[in-house]
Amino acid sequence: MKLVFATNNKHKLDEVRSILGDRVEVLSLNDINCHDDIPETAETLQGNALIKARYIYNKYGIDCFADDTGLEVDALNGEPGVYSARYAGEQHCSEDNMNKLLQNLTGKTNRNAQFRTVIALIINGEETLFDGIVKGTISKEKTGDSGFGYDPIFVPEGHTESFAQMDSKQKNKISHRYRAVVKLCDYLKKK
Ligand code: IMP
Repeated sequence: MKLVFATNNKHKLDEVRSILGDRVEVLSLNDINCHDDIPETAETLQGNALIKARYIYNKYGIDCFADDTGLEVDALNGEPGVYSARYAGEQHCSEDNMNKLLQNLTGKTNRNAQFRTVIALIINGEETLFDGIVKGTISKEKTGDSGFGYDPIFVPEGHTESFAQMDSKQKNKISHRYRAVVKLCDYLKKK
C-alpha cells in the first residue's frame, strides 16, 4: 500500500515509517512534488487535518493522511489548542509560546494539560479520523533541552521529567503522535 503523509517533517516521517513498517510505503509532500503552502484555516485540529488530507486527495488523487497537534490546557479552556504553533504570534517561536503560556498560568492551581494529535486518513475518498492523547501537567519552569515546541514545560502523567528531559525514544513511546499513529496502523492492518 502507498500513502502520502502530508508533511515534509523528517522526524514525523521517520516515526510514522518505523511504526507502519514495510507494508505501507509512506511518501512525503516532496516525494510527490507538492510544494504548495496548504492553508490551515480551521478552528479545530480535526478541521485542519481534514483540510490538508482533502487538499492532497483532491489535487493528486492519491490515498493520504495528514495530522494536526495541539496542547490543550484545562485552566485556559483548551488553549492554545489548534493555535499552539502561533500562540505568541506568526513567528512560530517556541520560546515565546512557552513564555506566554507560563504567564497565562500564573496564579492558577490547575496546571493539567494534554497533547492531542488528530490524523485524517483518506482512502478511495473515504475519510477516517484517529486521535492520540497524552495527559500531563505544565511545569512552572522550563527544564531539558531535547525535543521541540512545548516539550520543556510538559511533564507527562506518571513521570517527573519533562518531555525535553527524555530522549526521543522514551518520548516517542508515550507521545500523542505515537498513540494516534498506532491507531492508524491497527486500522490499516485490517484493510
Ligand atoms: P503540528 O501540528 O505537529 O505542526 O504541531 C503544532 C504545534 O504544536 C507545534 O508547532 C508545537 O508548538 C506543538 N507540538 C506538537 N507536537 C509537540 C510535541 O511533541 N512536543 C511539544 N510541542 C508539540
